[in-house]
Amino acid sequence: MKYRSLNANAPMVDFREATIRGQAPDKGLYFPMQIPQLSNSFLEALPSMDKTALALQIMQPYVGESIDTNSLEQIVKETVDFEFPLVKINQDIYSLELFHGPTLAFKDVGARFMSRCLGHFSKAAYNKTTVLVATSGDTGGAVANGFLGVDGVEVIILYPSGKVSPVQELQLTTCGQNIKALEVMGSFDDCQAMVKDAFMDKDLNGHLSLTSANSINVARWLPQQLYYFFAWQQWLQMGFTTAPVIAVPSGNFGNLCAGLMAHASGLPLQHFIAACNINDAVPAYLRTGQYQPKTAIPTISNAMDVGSPSNFVRILELFAQDHQKMAATMKGFTVSDAITQQTIAAVYQQYGYILDPHGAVAYYALESFQNNHPDAKGIILETAHPVKFPETVEAAIGKSIPIPASVLPLFQQSKKSVHMQANFAALKEWLLAQ
Ligand SMILES: *Cc1c(COP(=O)(O)O)cnc(C)c1O
Repeated sequence: MKYRSLNANAPMVDFREATIRGQAPDKGLYFPMQIPQLSNSFLEALPSMDKTALALQIMQPYVGESIDTNSLEQIVKETVDFEFPLVKINQDIYSLELFHGPTLAFKDVGARFMSRCLGHFSKAAYNKTTVLVATSGDTGGAVANGFLGVDGVEVIILYPSGKVSPVQELQLTTCGQNIKALEVMGSFDDCQAMVKDAFMDKDLNGHLSLTSANSINVARWLPQQLYYFFAWQQWLQMGFTTAPVIAVPSGNFGNLCAGLMAHASGLPLQHFIAACNINDAVPAYLRTGQYQPKTAIPTISNAMDVGSPSNFVRILELFAQDHQKMAATMKGFTVSDAITQQTIAAVYQQYGYILDPHGAVAYYALESFQNNHPDAKGIILETAHPVKFPETVEAAIGKSIPIPASVLPLFQQSKKSVHMQANFAALKEWLLAQ
């Protein structure tokens, strides 16, 4: 498989180079030259395939010759080494729980896959790669956990001081080894700007081999397709004969765009719902045909506080820049904080199910869609465990959330971070001294 830059001004590359670079030299996002098509025999075998075999079949065409089959099988096995249960909330709405990985959010799959691919490549090249990543919360933990102990890869995570939840902060500051956390005295936008400046800086790029670990990177983006296959398998096992509508809580739109890739390769899903908080550039585009990125506004579903979603260009590409085509497959909804909070409370009272704020945005969007499509049954992607957002969730349900056993050891550890002023000069000085 070859990848081209969506800015169309850079050479084509293979999977290995796309992963190592992150972004093309012309600042474009990489996009596969073809979308592999699923065969009928694959679709027939799918309901009973085990996760590793399925993941290998889906990822192999995208990886191509960059990784041999045995190594890739080991990589995907470790990537999907936990549960992805489809849980019934009520007659019409099911929850695909993507929070059973080590850091309790869906980003674990992408981070584990990417880290192992990069580890594989750096083993072959004998040179060290430095992953530099800004996080508003969940990415940091997933990347820290995914890359922990991976030979040949150093990880540096920038996070905004005081603006991530206690569980999120412990997850990204307690790993040690090859993981370092920089606690920036500023906002998430400041962290992201510092990282972007670093990728542009000649001195730093001469000194370090830098790459990013957000969903711009094909190795983090593409494995997210697997969720939709796991959903479909369980949907069939439950006895449904018509395809579900899928509601995806979205920020940077990597997850939803991965679902669209699975759909384009032949996975029979009915319709996609782009569920956003008030940072709703994509729902607004779906309504009006006008795309206007904005500055992000903070909300209680903070992992979706993105004003200018990076993966929107990939979605445009998938629909050949055609607004009508896109609007025929996707519908957007905007959900306020007040409604998100009410939804968490109502779903808990009526069905005993505890949503996290991101899942709640998806739930409300799906329910709104079903008001006009009463026959449509659907699935929300529950992207994080509610314990990652205790203040919001506990206020809504009126009691404390049981802490999963896997999180308890975190509270025994102490945070290790390097404090840093929110400017690029401080980051550069620190990086050059590494
Ligand atoms: C990152 C994240 C999202 C948004 O995913 P995108 O792929 O950026 O659209 C949604 N929910 C949670 C909990 C997240 O961590």
